[in-house]
Amino acid sequence: MIPQVYDSPIFRMACQQFDLVADFLEIPESARDRLKMPKRAVSVAMPVRRDDGSTTVFMGYRVQHHLTLGPTKGGVRFHPDVTLGEVGALAMWMSWKCALTGLPYGGAKGGVTCDPRALSIGELERVTRRYTQELIPFIGPQIDIPAPDMGTNEQTMAWMMDTYSLQSGHCVPAVVTGKPVSLGGSLGRKESTGRGVAYLISRAMDTLGINAQGATAVVQGYGNVGGVAAASLNRMGLKVIAVSDAFGGLYNPKGIDLAKLDEHVAKTKSIVGFDGAEAITNEQLLITPCDVLVPAAMERQITGDNAAKIQCRILAEGANGPTTPEADAIIAQRPEIFVIPDILCNAGGVVVSYFEWVQDLQSFFWDEGEVMSKLYRILEQAFVQTINFSRKRGVSMRFAALSLGIQRVHEAKQMRGLFP
Ligand code: NAD
Repeated sequence: MIPQVYDSPIFRMACQQFDLVADFLEIPESARDRLKMPKRAVSVAMPVRRDDGSTTVFMGYRVQHHLTLGPTKGGVRFHPDVTLGEVGALAMWMSWKCALTGLPYGGAKGGVTCDPRALSIGELERVTRRYTQELIPFIGPQIDIPAPDMGTNEQTMAWMMDTYSLQSGHCVPAVVTGKPVSLGGSLGRKESTGRGVAYLISRAMDTLGINAQGATAVVQGYGNVGGVAAASLNRMGLKVIAVSDAFGGLYNPKGIDLAKLDEHVAKTKSIVGFDGAEAITNEQLLITPCDVLVPAAMERQITGDNAAKIQCRILAEGANGPTTPEADAIIAQRPEIFVIPDILCNAGGVVVSYFEWVQDLQSFFWDEGEVMSKLYRILEQAFVQTINFSRKRGVSMRFAALSLGIQRVHEAKQMRGLFP
């Protein structure tokens, strides 16, 4: 039974995935709810003064999924559709992702229901500071460490770190990751998720024998993850033939000039209207023939309706939860598609967040080469373990990645035991 507070399509989707894996791993019924249900959830109503003098009450959330292996870790999302159920599902996936990559964290996620594009800089700062203030009893370097996600960025993390530090009376950089480098952020953190996506795509291409030179890529979402992944794929020799954001898509079979597109985005804040490609919709983009399809925007984009129509060799999930279980069942009947599942594909972000936290705790900072080589070593290990499990046990890559993550948390909970 899903508690009513979390009930939503995305939370149900995360539970459905968990239940299938728990059956496969033969996890006893008595251990399942303890593994699945989020440990702690905070909901805050936040009155914020607007630029016109009025007051708006925004809703903010933070869910900490499990506290078995260390503090919790996960992003903060600013988006109009944020709900407690969405944040709960994302926190659960963070748990499996951290366990898959061997990080000493439980999963967490937070968010504020707002449209960051409709807020001025001053309003965004007040929303962020109010959210942080409300969460002060529940976050901290040894409790829960937020990071950026959709709609938030380095500036958001700088305000969060400042608000928490003012309250503490001293500077506490390790309370958040994804900060500007000038405030104790890590070199390579901003690019880490997108570069990790590209690294894993290159490993999948090696596995399938696809040559990067001239191969084609399609990227949904041109933000932090999608933008960096597109640029990295381009550097590897792939042609990026389609990209999109929340407002529309672009297609150019000869390859989009990403440097020119970045100039356009810097001016207009959207890819729409760029004259080096023709306009397409997000729906068309997802079914565009290509070698590599990277959904890097929202969850639930590849569904029972379009899964039979996608035309790629590699589906690399930069976003969290972009493929529904109905779509998974269809893709399982299409062995020509190699899936790099979200908890593996976008894990680069949390891995370098972990490095940032370690550097902040020690006040000892690494150069970018050290960060990237340590990142690729961890991703390589997770990729090899996942593909080996998938082949040995005859299950999909998603099932393999989830199994490895869930099994590790299950074992840790069994070893710690149940406090009377
Ligand atoms: P972002 O806010 O920087 O960018 C999101 C992009 O997606 C924007 O271009 C936005 O316009 C676009 N978008 C939003 N809704 C869309 C829609 N319906 N159709 C097409 N495009 C849409 O966010 P981000 O940090 O790049 O995060 C993207 C995804 O990656 C999210 O699922 C997030 O949870 C996941 N993720 C992010 C990180 C990270 O380090 N930032 C790490 C792991 C996973």
